[in-house]
Parts: sequence; C-alpha cells; structure tokens
Amino acid sequence: MLEYKLYINGEFKDASDNAVMDAVNPYDRSVFAKLAKASINDTKSAILAAREAFDNGVWQAKKNEERSAVIKQIADKIKENSALLQELEIKESGSTYKKSKDDMFLTYRAASTFAKLALTDLNETLDISKEGVSKNLLIREPIGVVSAIIPWNFPLQMAMWKIAPALAAGCTIVLKPAPETSVSALELAKIIDSTDLPKGVVNIITGDAEVGQEMVTNPLVDKVAFTGSTEVGKIIMQNAAASVKNVTLELGGKSASIILDDADLELAVDGSAYAGYFHNGQCCVAGSRLILTNKNYDEVVDRLKAKLAKMKIGNPMNKDTDIGPMVSEKQQKRVLDYIEIGKKEGAKLVYGGGVPKGFETGCFVEPTLFADVDNNMKIAQEEIFGPVLAVIKAKDENDAVRIANASSFGLAGGVWSKDNERALNVAKKLRAGTVWINEWHLLNDKAPFGGYKQSGVGRELGIEGIKAYTEIKHIHIDEVLDRKKKFWYNVTIPQD
Ligand code: NAP
Ligand code: MG
Repeated sequence: MLEYKLYINGEFKDASDNAVMDAVNPYDRSVFAKLAKASINDTKSAILAAREAFDNGVWQAKKNEERSAVIKQIADKIKENSALLQELEIKESGSTYKKSKDDMFLTYRAASTFAKLALTDLNETLDISKEGVSKNLLIREPIGVVSAIIPWNFPLQMAMWKIAPALAAGCTIVLKPAPETSVSALELAKIIDSTDLPKGVVNIITGDAEVGQEMVTNPLVDKVAFTGSTEVGKIIMQNAAASVKNVTLELGGKSASIILDDADLELAVDGSAYAGYFHNGQCCVAGSRLILTNKNYDEVVDRLKAKLAKMKIGNPMNKDTDIGPMVSEKQQKRVLDYIEIGKKEGAKLVYGGGVPKGFETGCFVEPTLFADVDNNMKIAQEEIFGPVLAVIKAKDENDAVRIANASSFGLAGGVWSKDNERALNVAKKLRAGTVWINEWHLLNDKAPFGGYKQSGVGRELGIEGIKAYTEIKHIHIDEVLDRKKKFWYNVTIPQD
C-alpha cells in the first residue's frame, strides 16, 4: 500500500490528528494508497508557511531569470518522472493510457511555457505626461499568498496551470487537489521538493471541502484560484467576499458544437465525438451539446452511433482503451441519474444509457447518445460531466447560434464548416471564452482561457494568466519641484 503525507513548509508530515483517507482505483474499486487528510490546523500551518515565505521575500525578491530557472527545473523533473506520474493518474482517476500520456506532456509543457513567460518584464511606463512634468510607472507585484483549489479531471495539468503562473508572478501557494486525485498531487510535491524552490513557497495539502473553505476564508490568503463546478464556484466567491479576496474561477460548461450544412461530415462527426466523449466527457470544455440543422441531422446521428459502437471500453492501463471508468462511484451515479432524467424528459436514446456489460466491478458508463433533445431539457442545460451527448435540431444557422447561446454557461464552443469566413462569423456570435473552428479541446498555454457568464471569472494561461497573480501599482514621480508651479498652488494650502 502506497502512503502519502502532507507537504507543508518543505516537509512531509502526517495530519495533526493522524487522519487518513483512501485513494480508490475506479477500475476495480480497490484501495491502492493511504493519504494523510489535513485538519483545519494543518491547513492553517500550510497557509502560515506560504505567508512567511511570501513576506520574507525568498521568492518574490528573486529576479525573473532566477524564478524562471526553478520553474524550468520543475518542468524537467516532471518529464523525467512522467511514467510514474502517469501510472498514478490512471490508477486514481481512471484516465485512459492515451489521455494520461497527453496529460503528462501538457503538464510539462505548461511548466516550461511559464518558465519562458516568467522572463517577461510586466512593468510599463505610461505615456501620460509631458517630459519634465512627471513619470508614471506601472509596476506589477505578486499578489501574495494564493489558495489553489483544483478538480480531479486533469489533476496534474490543473495543478501546473495554477502553480506555474503563480510562481512566475512571485507568489507563494497552498494547493488542495480533489480527494479523488490527491496521490498524483503529492507525488508532484516530492518532485517540487527536489528542486531549488525555497521551502514554504509551494505547499500541497489533501483533504475535503472543510480544508477548501479554510483556504478561502483565511485572512492570510490574498487570492483564490479555483477550478471546479459552478455550484462550488458560487460558494467560493461568496466566502471570499468576506475578506475581499481576488478570485479566478474556472467553472463548468455546456459547450455547443455546431455542424453547419457545408461541413466535412467525416471530420465533423469524429471531431464532435472527440468533443463529447474525450475522457468520458469529464472535461470543462466538453462539447456536450451538438447542434445540427435539418440537412445533416439523420446522417450525423447515424454516423455518430456507428462510431460509438466501435469505441473500445476497457482497462484504462491498456494502450488501446478508448473508454475507461468514470472517476468515482459518485460520478458514475450522477451520470446514470442524468441519463434517467433524459429518458423521462422525452429525449430519444440512440445509443448506450447504462453500465456496459462485463464492466460492473468498475465505475463504468456506456458512451451515451441522446437525439431530439430540446435545449430547455435538463440534459441540455446542466453540466453532466459524463459521456452523454445531447443532439439538438436547429432550423438554420441563426437558430443554431441562438440555441448555443441559450445557456447559463459560456466556456467554449465550436463550428464545423468548409468555409472559414462563414464559420468565423458564427464563432464571433458565440458567447464563450474559447471557440474552435474545425477543431476541439485544443488549448494553448500562451492563449488566455476562461469563461463567459456562469463559466467563470478571469482568465488563466498566457501573460494574462500571470497578470492574474499580480497587483498593479501606479507610481507617480513628480518632476516639478517648484511649489508655485504645482497645480495645487493656492488650492487648500494657504500661501504666505
Ligand atoms: P467540485 O465540487 O466543484 O470540487 C472541486 C474542488 O473544490 C475540490 O477540490 C473540492 O473538494 C473543492 N471544494 C468543494 N467545496 C468547497 C468549498 N465550499 N470551498 C472550497 N473548496 C471546495 O467538483 P467535484 O465534486 O469534484 O465534481 C462535481 C461536479 O463538478 C462534476 O460532476 C462536474 O459537473 C463539475 N466539475 C467541473 C469541473 C470543471 O473543470 N469545470 C471540474 C470538476 C468537476 P472536495 O471534493 O473535497 O469537496
Ligand atoms: Mg468533490
């Protein structure tokens, strides 16, 4: 049995009350690791360590080049250890071999991209004054102590999307992974510990929502960076308000993929299946609504059904598995409940809808296709986070855009068409933070990512993503040293 401890102030520690939690493999529901479960006291210790490491300047006072070098060290060590990290991610989350292999590369890439971006000088001189009157500097300073709270779907990538830009900005961090995927996070803690990062700059603690709540409300924390459900995002925003903390929220989605009637159907069908079923639909940007006009409707639904029948369900460790288990029993139940709701709402179940035969010991759900979905149905409005695609019929292109935007979410969207100009025109009308044309799931570490509407607040990645971990300070240096020439001469201050 593997055992993991909390990582606080550069040391690996048991929980103060010796509490532990199980890491469960959703493929066979076996317990494969024991993890220390942080108490409120442990959470406070981690926050205090981050506060001291921030205030004593061990990290924020370093030059950009020095910070960049340490982030690069983290990136390189992730690459060196990627086989072990990948194995743990598969075990804890049911991620398939193919998906987790990508994850390892993308985690490395995020760290190495931010190592490069860390070299950028974010300070500016404003051109707002005549020479000899004043100089105006805009200085970017690290915001301080960051509480980073992440979900279980892309555990290491999500960790690096928070840790790397926060480090680049000069912040210190307390990270709480989701309980489902805390093993890989604590393995990452070992990697971070083996670099030259000063102690206390990154702390990783595992626990439940109680820990998360302390991280959001503790007055020693300056910023909360959260990825997860919109439901929890709302609670976090509310709790952060008590001490007016800066928040970045990366929340849920119900993204619409629109196949225009001039699309390359082979590409659009494969792409829409990838959009909806990649990682069992457990992606914030999953294309979980597919909007079709009458012209292609029957053909696309038939082709999709045929694709789903070919997907290989199996052990996620196998290199050729397309569909592994859901992350947990809780998530499996949630998805099966939504499938029942869809049937009751009157959507047409075209494929799947249950637990695949022969896979009852794991947390599996069949890839499921609903057609004739009305956009007002729950399965079209709520984030299922499972392998369930809802196909919705639109009258024409404008109707497709209207349906796509009739959602409380606005994370992503996509358009399939052979005509780029036409697709771009549609893309511009979608109220979403990322829109793909003839592509899906492709995010670039240099391009800002985030949601409109209830999909979030703020942006991650790119220079925008580093700025999100900074405060901006305006320094006005006045060059007029003769008091009689000051604009306030004779205003308020009496003259002798
Ligand atoms: P979640 O409830 O939003 O949790 C995400 C993270 O927030 C976890 O680390 C969680 O810890 C923590 N948390 C929960 N309540 C908190 C609070 N009051 N204060 C601070 N932190 C808190 O997501 P989930 O339970 O893992 O999944 C539920 C549903 O959320 C999914 O079915 C899916 O619809 C959605 N989801 C969306 C995304 C996304 O990327 N948009 C990612 C994951 C999940 P605990 O688990 O210990 O409570
Ligand atoms: Mg949870």
